[in-house]
Amino acid sequence: MARTIIEPFRIKTVEPIRITTRPERERLLREAGYNVFLLRAEDVLIDLLTDSGTSAMSQEQWAALMRGDESYAGSRSWYRFEAAVRDIFGFAHVIPTHQGRAAERILFAIACRPGDIVPNNTHFDTTRANIEQAGAEARDLPCPEGRDPAAVHPFKGNLDVRALEELIREAGPERIPLVLVTVTNNSGGGQPVSLANLREVRDVTKKYGIPLYLDACRFAENAYFIKLREEGCAERSVKEIAREMFSLADGCTMSAKKDAFANIGGFLCTNDPELAREERDLLILTEGYPTYGGLAGRDLEAIARGLEEVLDEDYLRYRFASTRYLGEHISRAGVPIVEPPGGHAIYIDAKAMLPHIPPSRFPAQALACELYLAGGVRGVEIGSVMFGKKDPATGEEIPASMELLRLAIPRRVYTQSHIDYVVETILEVHEHREAIRGLRLTYEAPFLRHFTARFETAE
Ligand SMILES: *Cc1c(COP(=O)(O)O)cnc(C)c1O
Repeated sequence: MARTIIEPFRIKTVEPIRITTRPERERLLREAGYNVFLLRAEDVLIDLLTDSGTSAMSQEQWAALMRGDESYAGSRSWYRFEAAVRDIFGFAHVIPTHQGRAAERILFAIACRPGDIVPNNTHFDTTRANIEQAGAEARDLPCPEGRDPAAVHPFKGNLDVRALEELIREAGPERIPLVLVTVTNNSGGGQPVSLANLREVRDVTKKYGIPLYLDACRFAENAYFIKLREEGCAERSVKEIAREMFSLADGCTMSAKKDAFANIGGFLCTNDPELAREERDLLILTEGYPTYGGLAGRDLEAIARGLEEVLDEDYLRYRFASTRYLGEHISRAGVPIVEPPGGHAIYIDAKAMLPHIPPSRFPAQALACELYLAGGVRGVEIGSVMFGKKDPATGEEIPASMELLRLAIPRRVYTQSHIDYVVETILEVHEHREAIRGLRLTYEAPFLRHFTARFETAE
């Protein structure tokens, strides 16, 4: 008999979570302008806002903190970190940053000129914002299945290679400073990219002399999907698969807050020595000296250890089982989700669940509010609040292509009964879905507006 896939760890330290009442949550949400980013974390019961920086560290990571060497230059912790990154990622130059977006800012500030275009399967919000900040355009080229939440395909995160080649021909390779592939495709539903697709993208970029970069935040989850789903990979180790993924690229950006089990950190890698020199110069200006880059020695230690642990296949089996558990239990009851379940999160298709709320009234944001009101559960909108645009001529809102509510699962943090509670909360909201009303924006910042936007309920 197949046994339950269990958490491959036991709990040594506990952090209490606080249960609030519905009237309390109604007041708190109103005060937060119907934006769950503006809630206090202690007023949230189950926090699925993000899997970023929210992992539980292992005893070995906590022990490694004590070994942190806080020397300004050339610390032992730096050499340990560099060796751990090189062992898996294989790139010649490793540049530590305080998180993923700092790596993005440095890379795009150097690589992008106004008028350039940077293609990606789907840009993450900070990636898009940093490219736009450099005056370039961030272009999403997901494969056709990736645009349809209900379509089932083993590698929905794949980049549309034909569209990529067309874009390069039309725009000219000189306007494309690099091509990015995000593994797994976070904004596109946490869907994986196949080795076959990476090889095809590599062939096209090579043909036109364009560097290929991976946005590597969830590289271990992507590699595990490849092991489970790609022809000929079942017997390979996840580490070997990850190494092959990186061998196809010229560099990467990485947030260690994801697949490195760290609470902070990131890095930028390249094989190009000239580019690495320029990147280090910029690093010194804003992040720090190249052997710590905005991190403490102890952070470097925690990341080095975390990179090793994330490739443990018992961990990955449990991680996928717990994410799938949430997805299957709500989709079986009729809640429309992005199929199949991704590695780090479940995405509810708010457009399909709340067809009576138009994109201009932000259905996924409204759903985020309802989940909080119903059970103190916090998810995040990935839809028109995050990715909507204003038409420069008319000032009218141009909606995003999908209206998703993402429920990201922090690594090694919640147990099955926590997830059962989330399932019950979602099903209760689903039952009363016709009564949910949309939201109207009352304040927005000029970029990355979702973090600080405020709303009121619309009629
Ligand atoms: C989190 C994330 C980033 C940015 O990393 P931060 O550490 O949050 O700055 C970039 N790309 C993807 C795909 C991410 O998930």
